[in-house]
Amino acid sequence: MQHYKNFIDGKWIESESKEKIKVDDPSTGKVIGEISCAKKTEVDLAVNAAKKSYNSRILVDMPILARAKLMRKIAEETRKVAKEGGELLCYENGKSIGGAIKEFNDVADIFDYYAGLTDKLEGKTIPVSKNIFDYTVLEPFGVSAHVVPWNYPIAMIGRSLACSFATGNSTIIKTAELTPLSATIFAKALINAEVPNGLINIICGYGNEAGSYLVSHQDVNHVVFTGSVATGKKILHSCADKAIPAIVELGGKSAGIVYPDANLDDVLDSARHGIFGVAGQICTAMSRLVVHKSIKDELVDKLVNLSKSLKIGPGIDKNTDLTPVISENQLQKVEGYARSGIQQGAEAAYGGKRVERDGYFMEPTVLNNVSQDMTVAREEIFGPVLSILEYEEQEEAIKIANDTDYGLGAGVFTKDLKKASWTAGHLEAGQVYVNKWFAGSHATPFGGYKQSGYSREKGVDALKSYLQVKNVGISLN
Ligand code: NAD
Repeated sequence: MQHYKNFIDGKWIESESKEKIKVDDPSTGKVIGEISCAKKTEVDLAVNAAKKSYNSRILVDMPILARAKLMRKIAEETRKVAKEGGELLCYENGKSIGGAIKEFNDVADIFDYYAGLTDKLEGKTIPVSKNIFDYTVLEPFGVSAHVVPWNYPIAMIGRSLACSFATGNSTIIKTAELTPLSATIFAKALINAEVPNGLINIICGYGNEAGSYLVSHQDVNHVVFTGSVATGKKILHSCADKAIPAIVELGGKSAGIVYPDANLDDVLDSARHGIFGVAGQICTAMSRLVVHKSIKDELVDKLVNLSKSLKIGPGIDKNTDLTPVISENQLQKVEGYARSGIQQGAEAAYGGKRVERDGYFMEPTVLNNVSQDMTVAREEIFGPVLSILEYEEQEEAIKIANDTDYGLGAGVFTKDLKKASWTAGHLEAGQVYVNKWFAGSHATPFGGYKQSGYSREKGVDALKSYLQVKNVGISLN
């Protein structure tokens, strides 16, 4: 079995405890590798390495175009390992091979993007009086700890790390225990790019051990967390105890409103990617459709036909449309949600059960006649389960879509752009997709309203959360 280690201070480190985390392939349930499990000792090592590199000012004082050049080198080296890393990601996460390779290439793009912004982090001068020259500079926080989830392990590392690096912070990443392996291939790209030791450290240990110790570590100055609302709240408490800033990117229960004039092919295409892609394990999954009564039957028929047509299988098979969920636990959870929906009165227009085969496969599931009070309409399922809710009046559709504690994504399907814009203005969500779920890119700000979190990742806006403002006033007397 292939054995992997933690990447600390530019070296591969075995955990002192010798404990390992085994990782399986969700399409077979078979173990494919193991990683040395980071404990407090390795967290201390990683934090010390980051602190030492930060205190050396190697990144802070690096000529700004050299920092940008180094980021472009990371991008280039990441592209070179995209195939190798993508394959490992496909096996450990279960997602499609195309999607897994793209994840590495997207991270390369995001490094290129932020490389171009390193020399645009400008302060300002402030008029005070004729005898005072006052200006601001934007400075990093220092040691930044990032805790990432398993659904997009490489993309989540990339989007926060690129900002952290572009702004001069030294970073420790704690990967998710279900998918820690492919990040070691990304670490290889960092070595190949000759990133100075300690600036980026990647460790894996259990969340309630290594994760909680890391975010509460006395030498960590800034935290970035992507994951569930429950863990996010714990992390916010821990950061509050130290009065340090935390970026939190949390879960979602996103709804798309389908107006009577919608092009239903757009809705189907969005369902294919938005709820059946990555087996629905997407924070902005299109998990609810709020559909006008006049077109609901027609759309449900089409969604059933789409579900029937999806080829279920391992991500490594290029013909697969629907890949497995991450684990047996997750499968039981998702199947339990579908069952609860049916028990509470929804109709399984298609699916609703696990697929009887090796691995952790869930049928593509379309639940019709869902009402707002049902658990499936309220809680994040994180599986390929689409709930259909019906409305008659436009205001009612908005009310249903907003009737959730979450506010990550939302969508609207209509040919009428005036109506789309009105709807986007009334939806409580950090991003609104019009006629195409996931419309946006690495350059567009991404984040939540309500309990889905705050701050923004991606785009120019994200950089603000990685920097603090220093004011300098100079007496000219
Ligand atoms: P999770 O909260 O269980 O775990 C996320 C990470 O936190 C893991 O690395 C885990 O080890 C760590 N962790 C767990 N307990 C911790 C603790 N007490 N202290 C510190 N770290 C701890 O989430 P998950 O199941 O891995 O991921 C799925 C969730 O992530 C979903 O809710 C999904 O919507 C969300 N997500 C959000 C975004 C976004 O951008 N908003 C992106 C991807 C995933």
